[in-house]
Amino acid sequence: MGAIRTEMLLPDQAGTRRAIALWRAGALVAFPTETVYGLGADASNAAAVGHIFRAKGRPTTNPLIIHVADIATAQRYAHFSDDAQRLADAFWPGPLTLVLPVREGEGLSPLVTAGLHDVAIRIPDSTLARDLLAWFGGAIAAPSANPSGRISPTSAAHVRAGLEGRIEAILDAGPCTVGVESTIVKPEIPALLRPGGLPVAAIEAALGKPLSHGANASKPTSPGQMLSHYAPRLPLRLEVTSPDRSDLWLGFGPACDGAALNLSPSGDLHEAASNLFAHLHRLDTLAAAGTARSIAVAPIPKSGLGQAINDRLARAAAPRDQKPA
Ligand code: AMP
Ligand code: MG
Repeated sequence: MGAIRTEMLLPDQAGTRRAIALWRAGALVAFPTETVYGLGADASNAAAVGHIFRAKGRPTTNPLIIHVADIATAQRYAHFSDDAQRLADAFWPGPLTLVLPVREGEGLSPLVTAGLHDVAIRIPDSTLARDLLAWFGGAIAAPSANPSGRISPTSAAHVRAGLEGRIEAILDAGPCTVGVESTIVKPEIPALLRPGGLPVAAIEAALGKPLSHGANASKPTSPGQMLSHYAPRLPLRLEVTSPDRSDLWLGFGPACDGAALNLSPSGDLHEAASNLFAHLHRLDTLAAAGTARSIAVAPIPKSGLGQAINDRLARAAAPRDQKPA
């Protein structure tokens, strides 16, 4: 792919108009949601969706999440069971993706679903993102705006560092508030396909039943759940309370004096989630400038948002010989 000039857009009238015009023309525009920056393209345009996979270096077996402005638009693309509707009513807009039976013939490019009969769909809880989607009027396919397998972006600078010259534009509206990707649920089973920004306990309470999880729940339908992902440049070890001299220590909570960076000095999981990817990006920068040989991460509680944080860290620590998604 030849180098493209990547335009930087502001969230003002000129910037948002330009973003919509680029989407309508089949171009890629990265935009902020409350979770991470997404790499958006018109989900009904096969060439545009194909460009997402090429720009990221993402295998085409890994389907994309579509983003819409409202429930009425979501219902155009997917069949909602009572349980699906209950979750949508309870948590949208918000960091929850529902995997639902796709309505055939509504114009989605088959690349979006990787040929599966389900489509992953969500309404982001960011006024700017929802305004863009409403003005666009259809579905925008948007995976995280990073090269496949690398750390997800929570700022326009992260997107630029990873994808400049490969995408047409980046809409810069500051850092993302939640900081980890959406929780993915398949209500039909019901199964958790990926922990994320909405804690599982809240979903189970709304459904009135437990979600099944683990590899078996996600394997047949979520080829994107590959082990190695979110990979920083240095190898990474988890649950480290006494780091070596050659480690860059990523702390959590007040007991981590001497950490290179701390996800949340007060031990707050929301703060830790919103800092997670930015800190991993900064550790990459520190690693490039210094002599450290590995990243050591302090233990992080597994409850609430801690489940998503530990999931991302486990993938960041996974052996790199497995092809990332
Ligand atoms: P990303 O947008 O890069 O955070 O990844 C989206 C995730 O959603 C991937 O792990 C996909 O495997 C998953 N996903 C997207 N569409 C589907 C689908 N139709 N069925 C199951 N999982 C999906
Ligand atoms: Mg991603």
